[in-house]
Amino acid sequence: MRDPMSLNKETIVVHDPHDERHYGAVSFPVYQNSLFTFKTHEELESALHHEVSSVIYTRGNNPTVALLEEKLTKLEGGEQARCFASGMAAISTAILSVVRSGDHIVCVDGAYGPAKKFMEQYLSKFNVQTSFVDGKIYEQIEAAVQENTRLIYLESPTSLSFELQDLRKCAALAEQIGATTIIDNTWATPMFQNPLQYGIDLVVHSMTKYISGHSDLVGGVIIGSQKHMDELFTNEFQLLGGILHPQSAAIFMRGLRTLPLRMQKHEQNGLLIASYLNTRPHIIRVNHPGLPDHPQHDLFKSQMLGSNSLLSFETDISMDRMRQWANSLQLFRKGISWGGYESLVYMKGQSDGTFVVRLYIGLEEPDDLISDMEQAFDSIGCGMK
Ligand SMILES: *Cc1c(COP(=O)(O)O)cnc(C)c1O
Repeated sequence: MRDPMSLNKETIVVHDPHDERHYGAVSFPVYQNSLFTFKTHEELESALHHEVSSVIYTRGNNPTVALLEEKLTKLEGGEQARCFASGMAAISTAILSVVRSGDHIVCVDGAYGPAKKFMEQYLSKFNVQTSFVDGKIYEQIEAAVQENTRLIYLESPTSLSFELQDLRKCAALAEQIGATTIIDNTWATPMFQNPLQYGIDLVVHSMTKYISGHSDLVGGVIIGSQKHMDELFTNEFQLLGGILHPQSAAIFMRGLRTLPLRMQKHEQNGLLIASYLNTRPHIIRVNHPGLPDHPQHDLFKSQMLGSNSLLSFETDISMDRMRQWANSLQLFRKGISWGGYESLVYMKGQSDGTFVVRLYIGLEEPDDLISDMEQAFDSIGCGMK
């Protein structure tokens, strides 16, 4: 899908076309208005006739939001993007644009919690059933397919245990059975994975995370083919109305300018911290697909361009003591989102009684973060010595 003559991602995020109408303003103006008016009634009627490409009302097209959508479209190598007020607005809208009553969904069990809840508990009210499968085993995805499977929902890597699905195989399977594929690509960002090139139909992102990069916005996006996105525009997009505010779009655009730079640094920091944890006593396993000894590292290399700084580990230290460890950390704040400049820690108990420690590595100097973790291990009596 990607035009071979198209610009590199680093250029796409910083280059805006020169705009005569706005005195050559270097950053695009915020069109903070609900409606757009026309000189004549005939022009209004003609715009209404071509609603999908006309600027009439901000619940449809808004020029500031449209510029952000254009950049995200290019970054993912798609044909059209639509932005939303949150990642969940994008995810629920994308799913609703595919399924109808009587359909069946195959979803990976490591997918984002609220997305799973939407399928399992909400859509079941409308007679849409979902099977959850271990996505790292392709055969389980294949085996879960039923005659009425219309959607295969992926998240690769998942955002707690960082397991991958084979995107090429999943796309081929969907094509064969006439189903649509959606992937939550939030972890990878458009910098490190472009699933449309493997035949995945729709990519969704929570822009709240790395795309914003500053922990000050909530938003989401769907990217796909012109045909699918035009239909989605006249249906779910306009009818559910969970649009992104133009002011937020402008701030997202500012975050996007440094996405390539930030992701380079996050990748370095993430690998440094993952390697440190990997060799440390009391750590049983580090979940980060960029590590050469990760069980899915070969698949990682075959479909991703890089890795980032959200990772998790399992330890033989009890959760109670790890709570003390987390409380002793001075540079990691306790919180559940990620993608900003600041490091975070979050621990989650599993149904089998085990727990994982999820770390988000921000843009601090990794040596400082390692020293902080070491002093916290010392404080609970699990130091290196
Ligand atoms: C945060 C997140 C979402 C939801 O995004 P919101 O912007 O909070 O609605 C979806 N998927 C993943 C992987 C996330 O981390």
